[in-house]
Amino acid sequence: MMWRVLDMIIYLKQYCRVWYGLLALILFMCFMGCSDNKDSSSYIMLNDDTLGKVKIHIAQFYQNRKAAISLTFDDGMRCHAMVAAPALEERGLRGTFFVYGRNILPTRSENDYTISQTEIRYMTERGHEISNHTFNHIKMTNASEDSIRRDLAKNDSLIELWTGKRPVTFAFPYNARNDMSIRVAKEGRVGVRTFETGFGGNVCHSTYEDMVNWAEDKIKKMSWGVAMLHGINEGYDGWEDPEPFFLFLDYLKEKESELWVETFRDVCAYREEANAAKLHATLVDGVLKGYAECKLDVSLFNHPLTLVITTSKQEVILKDIMPNHNFQFVLK
Ligand SMILES: [Zn+2]
Repeated sequence: MMWRVLDMIIYLKQYCRVWYGLLALILFMCFMGCSDNKDSSSYIMLNDDTLGKVKIHIAQFYQNRKAAISLTFDDGMRCHAMVAAPALEERGLRGTFFVYGRNILPTRSENDYTISQTEIRYMTERGHEISNHTFNHIKMTNASEDSIRRDLAKNDSLIELWTGKRPVTFAFPYNARNDMSIRVAKEGRVGVRTFETGFGGNVCHSTYEDMVNWAEDKIKKMSWGVAMLHGINEGYDGWEDPEPFFLFLDYLKEKESELWVETFRDVCAYREEANAAKLHATLVDGVLKGYAECKLDVSLFNHPLTLVITTSKQEVILKDIMPNHNFQFVLK
């Protein structure tokens, strides 16, 4: 009797193992099926009598660049207006400046290290993004939902008053964030900064090589890098000699064809749109027609998307399209 029971247990164990194996196989096939579906839905293959097979998809980054970099500057320091913004502009680049309104005055006296209302207005006019970093530079993991809402709304309204543009992104002071604060901060925005790499002088001790290696890694991984800086030539984490920062900007400019260097707002909006968009297209007699269906709020998400058209001769054509707008291109 005892042996019978043991036999039974061994048999059941083997039986279960087979079922577990089968279950794992089914799950694996589902997973593979899903990822295949994802690929095939992001690419559309079209056939044309004269052009042959044409493949179209929406680029991961604007203008089909390999990776994106956003330079973000925290805490509204005067060196952002006096050093960082002009250095970016000289190279045709733009940055994102996260400011907290508590200390920002209409104009700046000589010994004041904080940016002024006049300076952030001027920077907005020059194409930089001025955005929300709370009004009181509060640690949001220690604050109630109500107080966070009030604080963010106050800073949004003041920045809008000072610059003429309402912020649509956000960066957490001290990078302190939890599920609640992320949820609240995301309301009415294209996105919030939830990952970043700090660069600077007297705290981060970043060299030119550190920053270039970081950017090269983004190109290799075809991903989005968000740099967080504070001081440039003075203040918290500034460099005694900010040469590495200027050289890094030169490097970014040189890599323009591979790297999309753009504000946090624009890269964030592009990525959300590209992920959400569903492409519809037809190709008849060399004429490509279609539209990218996107259900996101158009008042926030209105960055043009890059359509990548690969012909049968492997020629790559890039076209800007607007989500939910019909496009038509003659390919032959
Ligand atoms: Zn801060």
